Amino acid sequence: MSVEILPLGGLGEVGKNMTALGFDGNYIIVDMGIRLDSIMAFEEAEIGKMSREELININGIPDDNILHGRKVKAIVLTHGHLDHIGAVGKLAYAYNAPIYGTPFTIELTRRLLREESGVRLKNELITVNPGGSVRTHGIDIEFINATHSILHTVFVSVRRDGESVLFASDFKLDEQPLLGEKTDRARLRRLASEGLLAALIGAVRLDEPGPTKSEAHARQMLKEVMSEACSNNGLVIATTFSSHIVRLKSIVDLAFDIGRTPVLVGRSLRNYCTAAMDVGLVDFPPELSIHGRPNAVHNLLREINKSRSDYVLICTGHQGEPTSVLSKIANGQLPLDIRDGDEVIFSASVIPNPINESNRELLETKLMAKGAHIYRDVHVSGHAGRVDTSEFIEMIKPDNLIPCHSTFDKLRLMIELGKELGYSDDRLHQLRNGTSLILGD
Ligand SMILES: [Zn+2]
Repeated sequence: MSVEILPLGGLGEVGKNMTALGFDGNYIIVDMGIRLDSIMAFEEAEIGKMSREELININGIPDDNILHGRKVKAIVLTHGHLDHIGAVGKLAYAYNAPIYGTPFTIELTRRLLREESGVRLKNELITVNPGGSVRTHGIDIEFINATHSILHTVFVSVRRDGESVLFASDFKLDEQPLLGEKTDRARLRRLASEGLLAALIGAVRLDEPGPTKSEAHARQMLKEVMSEACSNNGLVIATTFSSHIVRLKSIVDLAFDIGRTPVLVGRSLRNYCTAAMDVGLVDFPPELSIHGRPNAVHNLLREINKSRSDYVLICTGHQGEPTSVLSKIANGQLPLDIRDGDEVIFSASVIPNPINESNRELLETKLMAKGAHIYRDVHVSGHAGRVDTSEFIEMIKPDNLIPCHSTFDKLRLMIELGKELGYSDDRLHQLRNGTSLILGD
């Protein structure tokens, strides 16, 4: 039996992940993501208000025209980052197929669809726990625990008649993830012994030597930085990815330990934190304030401004996004000012694209001009580097290796890594969006 692997996005680019897998004319789609830098390049761009065609034209979502008319039996989401789920509202309606994901991923997808005006998808949203599996039309889809920078990330194994393909786009091998399960190494090793036809493996950070440090290391860095920052009696502000619940939990816990009151402010922070609490992934203390609505945010910031050394303000703005709470504070648009001796902790690295880089530089300049001291990169990545990717490949031993989710230079690095690990050229496949690879008999 032959297997068709048809990537529709994520090759030669970061974002826009989507791949179709075909068994005898029946297809499974894995991920439907957006490419954020393409969308950000258009001022005023609002995904909810843009049509599918407009978004395809600006390279913001995958062009899936080639799949229309084919028999798609399931849409599977690997994790809740927007570059994996952000295009569901624009693309899924074309397929008469349910959408499967872990509880957190499905909850985030449901909220995203609610936010996008006018989206009424007929597709059923079905949750599968990490470690669980479903069978549809003779195809087994298994969710294997993975660690990444968002909870409930899974590797997806798709199997039919003994032929299986593994999707491992975004992951790291973290032995101390602090929340959630570790990567299921035992199951991954068994995949190798059961015979794995192919694996699609993400190359986002393959230019880094690795191994990528654990989330426990990020917490230790934060502990040191926050202790130092809080000892200065100024206002302490921390910012990180809204979707990074584990990191947010570390900042909240450490603020309490130091004797300050943590408060979370910003619409997307509120959205992700309440989603994680709704599916029982995290317990924040009941006294923790999490505010997203403008009036509540204004009132809270006024309170903080009166008693600045009592708080750690956790807010949006780590990439310098102009509409974020931190940018508005730096611009003097909110009732909280930046003063000499204030401390701003960026628990995130700048996602390398020209828009983020210039936004972040501008934000830092404004904060420093007002006297703030800045801590940068108090952060560990959610993606494996070269050493840990190599360890992963040796663990699963796929017959065929397909680099995915990255720019072409890094896809190429994965091909070279495969050669070093003993793969012959005919088992290494550098693919392009929209072009199929057929494997098997
Ligand atoms: Zn991701």
